[in-house]
Amino acid sequence: ATDLGAWLPFARAAAVGLAPLATSTMPPPPESPKNDERVTINVSGRRFETWQNTLARFPETLLGSDEKDYFFDSETKEYFFDRDPDLFRHVLNYYRNGKLHYPRGECVSSFEDELCFFGISEDVVHDCCWEDFRERKKECEERIFEP
Ligand SMILES: [Zn+2]
Repeated sequence: ATDLGAWLPFARAAAVGLAPLATSTMPPPPESPKNDERVTINVSGRRFETWQNTLARFPETLLGSDEKDYFFDSETKEYFFDRDPDLFRHVLNYYRNGKLHYPRGECVSSFEDELCFFGISEDVVHDCCWEDFRERKKECEERIFEP
C-alpha cells in the first residue's frame, strides 16, 4: 500500500500537467500488493481477474462479502457465475474505480437484473450515466405498465 500511495499523487500530477510525463522519470507502477490475493471470476466462460482487496471495497455486495463463496468452484479454484459477461465488465469496474457506469447500448432491465443479482444498489450509478439510466428506466417502465 505504501508503493501505491507514493505513485498515485505523481500519476495525478502528471495527468493535470504539473509533472510532464515525458521528461520526468516515471516511477514504475506499484507491484502487486504482497498481502493480496488474485481472484478469478468466471462469468459464463469468460474469465475476469481482480484482487481480493478490490472486491472487499464494497462489503455489502455479493462479491464483496462471503456470499460469493457459495459460487466458488474448489476444483477450478475460481468463482463461477452463470450471468451476462458483457454486463459483468461494468459491475467489476465499479469495484475498481468506485464508479458504476450504465452501458447505453444495453437493455435497462437486464442491467438492473445484474445489479440486483450482485447486490449493488442502482443508486450508485455514477453522475455521468445517471440521467441516461433514469431516462431509459422510465421509458422501460412506461412500456411495461401501459395497458
Ligand atoms: Zn458513466
